[in-house]
Amino acid sequence: MMDFPLTLRSMLERGEKLFPKKEIVSRTPSGIHRYTYADYGRRARRLSSALQSLGVKSGDRVATFAWNNHRHLEAYFAVPCMGAVLHTVNIRLSPEHISYIINHAGDKVVLVDEDLVPLLENVKDQLDTVTAYIVMSDKEELPPTSLSPVYSYEDLLQQGDPGFAYPENLDENSPMGMCYTSATTGNPKGVVYSHRGIFLHSLCIGLTDTLGLSERDSCLPVVPMFHANAWGLPFGAVWYGTKLVLPGPGPTPDVLLGLIEQEKVTLAAGVPTVWLGLLKSMEAGEHDTSSLRAVVCGGSAAPRDMIKTFETKYNIPFLHAYGMTETAPVALVSRLKSYQEEWDADARLDAQAKQGLLAPGLEMKVVGEKGEVRWDGQEMGELLLRGPWIADSYYNDDRSQATFSDGWLHTGDVATVDEEGFVKLVDRMKDLIKSGGEWISSVDLENAIMAHPAVFEASVIGVPHPKWQERPVACVVLKEGSEVSEQELRDFLADKFAKWWIPDRVVFMDKIPKTSVGKFLKRAMREMLKDTFA
Ligand code: ADP
Repeated sequence: MMDFPLTLRSMLERGEKLFPKKEIVSRTPSGIHRYTYADYGRRARRLSSALQSLGVKSGDRVATFAWNNHRHLEAYFAVPCMGAVLHTVNIRLSPEHISYIINHAGDKVVLVDEDLVPLLENVKDQLDTVTAYIVMSDKEELPPTSLSPVYSYEDLLQQGDPGFAYPENLDENSPMGMCYTSATTGNPKGVVYSHRGIFLHSLCIGLTDTLGLSERDSCLPVVPMFHANAWGLPFGAVWYGTKLVLPGPGPTPDVLLGLIEQEKVTLAAGVPTVWLGLLKSMEAGEHDTSSLRAVVCGGSAAPRDMIKTFETKYNIPFLHAYGMTETAPVALVSRLKSYQEEWDADARLDAQAKQGLLAPGLEMKVVGEKGEVRWDGQEMGELLLRGPWIADSYYNDDRSQATFSDGWLHTGDVATVDEEGFVKLVDRMKDLIKSGGEWISSVDLENAIMAHPAVFEASVIGVPHPKWQERPVACVVLKEGSEVSEQELRDFLADKFAKWWIPDRVVFMDKIPKTSVGKFLKRAMREMLKDTFA
């Protein structure tokens, strides 16, 4: 058979040619912007030609510093299709980490949304490799900025060639993009994606048994385009001609609900904190969410009770998925097997709350102290993954060895596998709580606490203890106007766990600190509460 290169060029060309009338909707500071895939293709080509005239060559890194919007989407294909490498910088990293990753990636050009310019101005004196800044704005005139040299995105596009031809002979193994993990300790680590990896990952998320992304969807990626490629949805959407709804700067739950209603969104994707926030707004008012065929949730464990609320109260199917920046990211999806759909409601929910089945194309092992674990839903081990969209190293980083050895990605996540092959994440290795020589899953406790009607959010951490090594402490945010005491919460858990699992303390907070991508920042909580038992 033909040895045909799997590159983004053919994905873009399919979107342009077969779906020229399909729409991309983008929320910008000046309102809702709409255009078609035909317009999109021409503008992406103009961007590639403009970048070429600025001296961008094959292999050069072009960074984006942007929200989820149509210009960011243009860069998603314009940069890789010309052979350059798209580096999506996480705008919520600290200034030190932003300058570290731009320097480490060696970014030559940075495309930046107008409202984010001040963040880049803060770090510009630390940037060693950037030769041009391109400001993306709806306005004709750019605001004054100390970034230099600076160009207007729209001016550059005007001069660009809408018929710019992409090379047909790109090597499928050449890099197309990169993304850094948000670091819990030390500097962020870079992952480089190949054309081939993203091509195959995009095919995978179109399968009915994974996310089933298709031309018929109206897809709302709430997950930022700077976080693990917005889970690959933009790549798949352009290929399949899916209507995309890009929520723009700082979307609130009400903005998201408005978009779902107006744009008849069928598939929306985000981390659990996004869905918890959405539920709060849904409970406060009337919203039409009937168009949703699924809400995709990943990034951290989806609380079982939240899944139940979506499905039973709002009739919105819930799809729990697992992945990492290192896995492009989709690796596991909790879509029930046909016969599991016949199970009783509780058993179905138990399965949905797991991270699910391995995506076709990947391989996995769960390895405990005595080798691969039994598939009994009990024995725990570290989840190891390999496959065509799994990274094989960190970019120029001597920390690679610890994560990538023996041909497997060592995820650092502890998991069990049940008889059906459903993987359940017990915890991140570093978040497991070790008490008196036994392990306690912070995730299981969080899940159970979040099922209490008064609780909005909960996060459980291990705190050093003089006798037990560590003991669990729960950090809890209550729903507005709700009340519950520490003892009542502990009593609520009493029949669900062994006595020694019950958190010794419950600390009520106004809000739980979050990471740059909306996960509970357990490091900060451990620091805050480290002397609880001293
Ligand atoms: P970061 O490491 O910066 O949080 P990633 O988004 O790459 O960035 O995080 C990947 C990690 O997120 C996984 O190793 C896992 O611990 C966690 N994770 C992702 N999806 C899930 C999920 N569905 N349930 C539980 N944990 C998850």
